[in-house]
Amino acid sequence: MQIAFIGLGNMGGPMALNLQTAGHDVRAFDLSKPACDKLAADGLKIAQDATAAVQGAEVVISMLPASQHVEALFLGRDGQPGLLGSIAKGALVIDSSTIAAATSQKVAKAFDAAGIAFIDAPVSGGTGGAIAGTLTFMVGGDAAALERARPLLEKMGANIFHAGTVGAGQTAKICNNMLLGILMAGTSEAIALGVANGLDPKVLSEIMRRSSGGNWALEKYNPFPGVHENAPASKGYAGGFGTDLMLKDLGLAQENAMAVKAATPLGGLARAIYAAHSIAGHGAEDFSSVIKMVQKKG
Ligand code: NAD
Repeated sequence: MQIAFIGLGNMGGPMALNLQTAGHDVRAFDLSKPACDKLAADGLKIAQDATAAVQGAEVVISMLPASQHVEALFLGRDGQPGLLGSIAKGALVIDSSTIAAATSQKVAKAFDAAGIAFIDAPVSGGTGGAIAGTLTFMVGGDAAALERARPLLEKMGANIFHAGTVGAGQTAKICNNMLLGILMAGTSEAIALGVANGLDPKVLSEIMRRSSGGNWALEKYNPFPGVHENAPASKGYAGGFGTDLMLKDLGLAQENAMAVKAATPLGGLARAIYAAHSIAGHGAEDFSSVIKMVQKKG
């Protein structure tokens, strides 16, 4: 099957490679030349631009940072046309970026009018899950479109959930990431407290992992350097899930909470914490670097 894959960052790169390894004809593109060069070296076929990538594609997958990138890519911006007019009628578009549900719905409506199916399918599982092909997909859209997408999603993920109509995948995703942002900040605070009292971060992390404070950060993504060899914390907080992307997701959660009058006091506090961390210069680092806010210096 011919697949166009747009957005080859920390997540999109390994996802596209998994589809190619599964035998699909993947034509990929990213605005960043270094991202394209890296994936080309791994054997991925890089198209000249996004329009060339979608020529003849039965399925188009996007993995971009935020709402404005997805809307501009598909619907156009500043008088520049989007990909909408270049994607074949009858094709399926899968957007795996984490964006506002309202943007997914706007894009879906335009595709629907052009006879093109669309699902929002944001993911969880981090870069480790993207590389291993064990992501969780949270899908919004009609069941028939999901069934068309399923064989491809299974090449990139281990869990596929149908959350509801278009946009529902995004809503599930921001609920999850609001919780993740809170848990990472809380886990960081607890480890920093223990270390300030002379505890070994590895020993303390293991105690909490097996106790009632256990969570995903303590299982797989410890914010303290050296506890998990493969976590971003042990690699200078490089790669992983950027602080600014977490800040975007916490902002989406707050916008949504305001729209439905939900009470999310910890989500609001987490957004403020990551915003301060970003302003302090850590926006491009992995979000687990939030531990720096509470670590004793020297
Ligand atoms: P990233 O910043 O590493 O990659 C995004 C890529 O999109 C960049 O390489 C950028 O150049 C490219 N891009 C932007 N606009 C483009 C355009 N118009 N055409 C082509 N390429 C374009 O981000 P990421 O970590 O891969 O995350 C992608 C999405 O997945 C985000 O919405 C993020 O919130 C979500 N997400 C990330 C993780 C994670 O652990 N990193 C986990 C789950 C979900």
